[in-house]
Amino acid sequence: MIERTLAIIKPDAVERRLTGTIIARIEAEGFQIRAMKRVHLSKAQAEGFYAVHRERPFFASLTAFMSSGPAIVVVLESADAIRKWRALMGATDPAKADPGTLRKEFAQSIERNATHGSDAPDTAAYEIGYFFSGTELI
Ligand code: GDP
Repeated sequence: MIERTLAIIKPDAVERRLTGTIIARIEAEGFQIRAMKRVHLSKAQAEGFYAVHRERPFFASLTAFMSSGPAIVVVLESADAIRKWRALMGATDPAKADPGTLRKEFAQSIERNATHGSDAPDTAAYEIGYFFSGTELI
């Protein structure tokens, strides 16, 4: 089934000038890029995006990190896009990520882990809508 998912190149990776490298991997894996932009989230916007994690002990630190600098938000489309993008990213904790995954290669810690990906169709729809209007998805 053709799906869409939201990918984020997080502030750690943008700051380290990894945007082009990660976009090249996305295209090489066969995803279509349906929308893309650079954003600098406010703390409140980061808190809204990660609202499901608000009770977690790392919520304040995570939202401070995600609002610390520019990020790139991207809508990816392919067959099985949600699972496929999470496989390319690898495990949340780079120490547990498989060789060849983006997080194994580029993450600096469990928090500063280079990329984000939606985890299910309902969260993908919410997250895409958080950043893009319908007319921006082309
Ligand atoms: P994901 O779906 O793989 O991004 O993982 P989660 O939804 O569980 O967590 C969201 C984000 O919170 C992760 O990508 C990390 O940036 C951060 N995070 C997750 N677990 C931890 C943790 O134990 N400590 C810290 N500091 N950050 C975490």
